[in-house]
Order: sequence, then structure tokens, then C-alpha cells
Amino acid sequence: MAPNVVDTSRNQPTLVEQGVENEFDSKEEEIRKRVVSTKSQNQSEVNEPISPWYSRLEDIKWFNVIFITILHIAAVYAFFTLPYIRCWRTFIWTYIIGFLGGFGITGGVHRLWSHKAYKANTAMRIFLAFCYSCAGLNSLHEWIKDHRVHHKYSETDADPHNSTRGFFFSHCGWLMQKKHPEVIRKGKQIDFSDIEADEVITFFEKYFGIMRVMFSYVIPIVVPVYFWNEEWKYAILFQVFRYVLVLNSVWSTNSVAHMFGNKPYDQSIAPVENFIVAVFALGEGWHNYHHTFPYDYRASEVGKGLINPTTHLIDLFSKIGWAYDCKVPSESLLKMTIVKRGNGTHEYSKIMRKKSGNVGKDTVTEDTKECINTSYEWCLAET
Ligand SMILES: [Zn+2]
Ligand SMILES: [Zn+2]
Repeated sequence: MAPNVVDTSRNQPTLVEQGVENEFDSKEEEIRKRVVSTKSQNQSEVNEPISPWYSRLEDIKWFNVIFITILHIAAVYAFFTLPYIRCWRTFIWTYIIGFLGGFGITGGVHRLWSHKAYKANTAMRIFLAFCYSCAGLNSLHEWIKDHRVHHKYSETDADPHNSTRGFFFSHCGWLMQKKHPEVIRKGKQIDFSDIEADEVITFFEKYFGIMRVMFSYVIPIVVPVYFWNEEWKYAILFQVFRYVLVLNSVWSTNSVAHMFGNKPYDQSIAPVENFIVAVFALGEGWHNYHHTFPYDYRASEVGKGLINPTTHLIDLFSKIGWAYDCKVPSESLLKMTIVKRGNGTHEYSKIMRKKSGNVGKDTVTEDTKECINTSYEWCLAET
């Protein structure tokens, strides 16, 4: 169970506090029941029991197995043999492409399109879709649908990279086999109307095959050769290394950040806070927070050593008006959640514990009551 959860029973809350607390508890229970019933329904509808990925040969996507394996061998070779100093211009160029691709994932398909955590004008959406093409991942539609299903059915059969099936499966094994039937079935039920109505997504989706080849492979390789006479071998190896690094940074959010770390915001879910993942995935490692407040455009609290370049970039774009309506939970909802659902390691939990466990006084407000009725339910049960 939860040894660090603050014991609220030692102090008598005021009537107002008690009312809100009860409301919070009953709402929480309601959500919990619905999540549990969704999970059991999900399980009962599965026709076949899950076998380990390696025992269902007919489900394995051999092309992906071979492609991913060769890529990783080449990337390891590149990492140990590339002349970083001599090829400094290619090194910087590779970093820029990697960063742009990363921002297309974190600020684009993730926070903007999957979660609608902020709004962006057409210019910014074009820029983000271009950046996403530089990353060389799956199509925009597939990424967004997979991610919405991941949040709604985390750690169930309908979760594309269900972390209860092990580290390898959640990291990259899920790409090496056919999707579980539940992933496809639940994916069809996800509301996708906003994505289908986005003309930028529609355009990039239509030409995504050629966009990905051009922006992720051809242009990144050709530019160093053409402009500063880079050797073809190094021009290719730098991009292979960049591609594999971006892939593993994204995959780590589904594997490492669902297994190894702290749970200050909600100890009942698998996602955790992981500093290393945050460094490599441009701020996406604060995953316990993100799964608790998926609509927050920052995907973490700010400051306090919580590395998050994606948030700072979105803030910059909001200064010139390209990004707007950036959503964040209210301070009171955040505090209430930390105290009620976190594992007690958050600074705020510690402060409240020092105040003799009196968690009600500073956290319960009318604002909190409003949040409990609206966004809290949404942030737990929806994307
Ligand atoms: Zn996740
Ligand atoms: Zn997410």
C-alpha cells in the first residue's frame, strides 16, 4: 500500500473542507469504478490469452525486427567511430535536425495534437508538422491515435505499448509485432474528429511518405556533403545515430518512464518521474505528472530542476502569438492531487506533513471544488 500518504483523519476538517473532501472522494471513487470496469470489460473481450511476444511467430513483423536491429548495430558503430571534432559542422547540423524532430514530437503530435493542451496558429502547425517529419516516425494519424489510446487505456491490452508486458515490449517490442486486437478496436472508438478537421495534418498525412524520406533522411544527409564537403560515410552515419537516439528517447517515455522513478502526483498509476528520460526526450520524462494532468501543456510543473525545453519553446511561441490557450491545472487542484493521490515525496506533501498532517486548510477552496467537478474527472478518464 502507501506508507507515505498523508493521514488526513487526525484532524477534523471544517464543514466546507469536509464537503469538498467528500465530494472529491466520491468523485474519485466513481472514476475509479469506471476505470476498473473498463479494464475488466477490456480483459473479458479478449479472445486469446496474451503470449510473450517471441512465442507468437505469426504475429512478428519481421521487416521491423530486421530494420530496427540493423539500425541499432549501425548506430553503435557510429557512436564509437565518428570523428566528432573533425566533423563539427555535421555534428551541429545533426543536433539541429534531432532537436527539430524532437520538438515536432513533443510540442506537436504529443502536446498539441494528442492532448490539445494548447492551440497553435496555422504557421506553427505547419512548422510542427515539418519538424515531426524530420523525426522519421510513424504517420501523424497513427502516432496520435496510439497515444490517445495509450492514455485512455494505460497498462491494459488496449494500450499499444502496455508496460505490464515487460520492458522490451513497451520499449520497442510492440513495434515488432502486430497490434493486440484491443488496441485496434479501442483505437476505432477514439474521437478523432479534431485531427481529421485539421487541414495541416491532412496535407502532411497525404504526403507523409515523401516528407519523411526527404526531411528525415535525404536532406539531412545531402546538406553536409553539398555545403561543406562532408564524406558520404560520415554524413550517413551521423544521421543514423541521430535517428536511433531520437527513437530510443521516445521509446523510453513508454518503457523507462512507466517503470523506474517516483510517483509524487498519483501513486496508483504506473507512469513515473524520470530525470534521464526528461533530458533525452526534451522534457517528457515527468510522466507521473503528465498522466495525472495530460491536458497541461507543460507536461510537468515548472522550475525546481524539472528540465523541460519543450515548455520553454512553446512559451516563446506564445510570446509571438503563434501558441495560445495554454492549459494548466489550478494551483489548488494540483495541491489537492499531490496530497490525496501522491506518494508523499513531493515538497508540498512534506510541508503539509510538517503542519501536523492538516492537509485541508491550504488546499480546499471553491476553485478546487470546481476543478473536482470538471477537469479532474476529465484528466483521469480521458486523454
Ligand atoms: Zn505514458
Ligand atoms: Zn501524453
